Amino acid sequence: MLFAASCLLCGDCLDRCSLLADLGLMPAEIAEAVASGQVDERLLAAIQRCDLCGACGRGCPAEINPAEVFLAARQALIQNGTISPFEYDVMLTDRDWQVRQAAEDLRRVTGEV
Ligand code: SF4
Ligand code: SF4
Repeated sequence: MLFAASCLLCGDCLDRCSLLADLGLMPAEIAEAVASGQVDERLLAAIQRCDLCGACGRGCPAEINPAEVFLAARQALIQNGTISPFEYDVMLTDRDWQVRQAAEDLRRVTGEV
């Protein structure tokens, strides 16, 4: 997840997604936590909850797509055994949030309300 190292910690992506806002971590901090094995329950839930829509990265001055950070985090956590591939519910791990709240965030960010 070296691409996350260019994150400027500006917080723009947190303003575009309630998942990131609730988590309170910037993509560089997420990548660092995964790389150093410091993934607590809240971060693990967010990593699995993100629907990879990419709306959060639309205004990123460093041209980072946080969805790619979450995807790489999932892959890393499956590889190190934190997430079992046999228990992992591939895309929609939190259907209620992903279908309703993520769609609402996406409409707000894109102006399609
Ligand atoms: S918008 Fe980009 S630079 Fe700003 S915190 Fe998010 S990932 Fe980092
Ligand atoms: S990819 Fe979508 S759901 Fe995931 S953090 Fe970004 S805006 Fe939120």
